[in-house]
Amino acid sequence: MRPRLSALCLLAVAVTACAATAERGAVASPAASTAAPVDSRVVFPQSVQQGALVFGKVPTGSTVRYGARTLRATPYGTVVFGVGRDETGPVSVQVVLADGSARDVAIAVTPRDWPVENIRGMPPKTVEPPPEIAARIEREQARVTAARVRDDDRADFAQAFVWPVQGRISGRFGNQRVYNGIPKSPHSGMDIAAPTGTPVLAPAAGVVTFAAPDLYLTGGTLLIDHGHGVSSNFLHLSRIDVKVGDRITQGQVVGAVGATGRATGPHLHWGMNWFDVRIDPLLVLERTK
Ligand SMILES: [Zn+2]
Repeated sequence: MRPRLSALCLLAVAVTACAATAERGAVASPAASTAAPVDSRVVFPQSVQQGALVFGKVPTGSTVRYGARTLRATPYGTVVFGVGRDETGPVSVQVVLADGSARDVAIAVTPRDWPVENIRGMPPKTVEPPPEIAARIEREQARVTAARVRDDDRADFAQAFVWPVQGRISGRFGNQRVYNGIPKSPHSGMDIAAPTGTPVLAPAAGVVTFAAPDLYLTGGTLLIDHGHGVSSNFLHLSRIDVKVGDRITQGQVVGAVGATGRATGPHLHWGMNWFDVRIDPLLVLERTK
């Protein structure tokens, strides 16, 4: 499937103009046009897909829990959490309003198809690494995982996300991957085919929390934190133009497409997380379409 370029360009223009109001519009409530004041409502979708980033809205002063976490709320009462690829649901959110009254919100989870993707021609040492390489991969993964613990109060995640590069989707989130005939973890992000050197744009604003040019599996690796535990990762980069701590604006060039690490050809791997829960960037793009 090709991204709809014309629609996306329009979206990018609209985003710039509407940045200040994007967050207020983050939750589409079917009752938004009624007289009920927005801040007296608890609004969550009735159902979500596996791999979705879920937005909710609660009145000021509420405490919101999902799983083991207490969710941050923005000044507009927006909360966000991720539903994993294998979540079967229903998931539940506990909201305690400022007056102490509590509400349990149940959200159904729609299952998705997860096709098997056979990928041949991977260098064998990257598919079944020798012990010293396996240890290196583990150390590198631990550094990336540590960067995802962050829970900033920035609400960059509430922006309408834009494509980091334009191109054909060459690998979808969640597909079961088989490398050289050996089953591996599901695909953790979305691959977009593009030539080496294509500039990679930040899909939303954020802060750089990790940048390394040469990780074993993921090559040039960059993490951007969008606040409230939501982050993007970009893998296999040929170039990284930003450093840890940099504040990034939406659309800013942060690096370039490459084929570094375990990659069969040049493409951008764009992954998204809510803390350690992997979510589907395509659903995040489509949320505001
Ligand atoms: Zn990928």
